Amino acid sequence: MENYDLVVMKFGGSCLQDIDSFSQTTKIIKDYLKKSKIIVVTSAFKGITDKLIDFYNRSCGDGNSCAEIIEDIKDIHKKFINENIDKEKPEFNKAMNFFDVNIKDLIQLGRVVRLLRPSLDIQDLIISYGEKLSTYIISQYFNSIGIPSEFISSDEIILTDDNFSNALPLLDETEKLVQNRITPIINSDKYDLVCVTGFYGSTKDKKITTLGRGGTDLTAAIMAYSLSSIFNCKVIYWKDVKGFLNADPRITEHASLLNQISYLEAKELAFFGSKVLHPLCLDVNEKGNIPSEIRSFNNPNSNEYTKITKEIIKSKRVIKAIASIQRLSMVTIESGTMISLPGTVAKLFNLLAENNINIKFISQSSSENNVTIGIDFEDSMKVSYILRNSDWFGKQWFSIKIDNDISLIAVIGAAMLHTRGIAGKIFTVLGEQDINIRAISQGSSELNITIIIERDDCKKAVNVLYNAFIG
Ligand code: ASP
Ligand code: MG
Repeated sequence: MENYDLVVMKFGGSCLQDIDSFSQTTKIIKDYLKKSKIIVVTSAFKGITDKLIDFYNRSCGDGNSCAEIIEDIKDIHKKFINENIDKEKPEFNKAMNFFDVNIKDLIQLGRVVRLLRPSLDIQDLIISYGEKLSTYIISQYFNSIGIPSEFISSDEIILTDDNFSNALPLLDETEKLVQNRITPIINSDKYDLVCVTGFYGSTKDKKITTLGRGGTDLTAAIMAYSLSSIFNCKVIYWKDVKGFLNADPRITEHASLLNQISYLEAKELAFFGSKVLHPLCLDVNEKGNIPSEIRSFNNPNSNEYTKITKEIIKSKRVIKAIASIQRLSMVTIESGTMISLPGTVAKLFNLLAENNINIKFISQSSSENNVTIGIDFEDSMKVSYILRNSDWFGKQWFSIKIDNDISLIAVIGAAMLHTRGIAGKIFTVLGEQDINIRAISQGSSELNITIIIERDDCKKAVNVLYNAFIG
């Protein structure tokens, strides 16, 4: 086993849901502390972020049942403190006091929202309490069992833009802040463990921002990225799964674990339906060339895990995975006028971007009279409304078709680059099974070929492609 001076570890809500999962978490940390210093990055306790969002939404309205939500939040945290921290230790009171002070602030914030102004920045501030509370309590727990740990609230060290609720970290500035704050702690003899809150950062003018749901992964990636020029470090994402699978196990029973995969391929997987990691954290790890592992938190010493590295492992199999998104909508805009009107596609993308619609794939016929885009099924009504009411696309000469019964399949493998015949084989395999292809797209990076089919065909298509390329 390679040795690292520093291991950054991410623990999500499911590792912090009850006494058993938390004792498993502490077992893992104690084990790794024998060899390296550790930065633990933690999410909120299980379910807390959802409760905080609910609290915010209700505060925006008439405040109905806010008190109940606060009671729930109190119960979960106090139970955790009571079950894990020895009452005789000073850390017990520290944790309780910290909780009491912060819950009062939270209740106060709910009132501010109700009386003054609902806004995304207050929402971010409110939901950041989940990580702030859990991480502080966990850090006090470690102090109470004789493992000195320093607590850091990530707004001190992660600088982001002001895109509230989905903020992007400003990596260069953040790197310096993280190094200045954390390097002396890691180098000191006093601490072996640093506990950093996941999920949030702050803008230049010190407003709290959150990094999008599941953002604690990204926080861990940022820590490793920022410290990798000083320490020999790696990052481990502890999950309730073993790692990345080469297909969705709900769709094909043959799906199996990918032991090693490149950043490029993992990013494709994360984008197309595999919800294992926050997609941006792979970008950050790749940039810093940080060795990353996804490991099963219930089976910490197992050899069954996914290692993600810069190198593309060339195996006999060109195709590494068949990813799928079962529920997707496809929007086709057709008009003879696109030929003579440059800028139509730009207008379309701008309009969708202004309305926060994420585009999953694009294809345009070379006759230029239609363009097709794939969007989340959940966005379909909104897109239909926006397009039909737009000054431009609402005009008679455009026809807009929305199809809600389609699925997307991505055939992924970096070795596809310069390999002939993959697309041909895909079409043959699907054609033989009578599966109709509605649209196709391939990025010029040749990392994946994306095909759009009827939803009814999805399961069959994934299975035949899996058998043809992997199984
Ligand atoms: N607590 C946040 C969420 O539930 C962040 C995270 O879990 O990574 O999305
Ligand atoms: Mg979570």
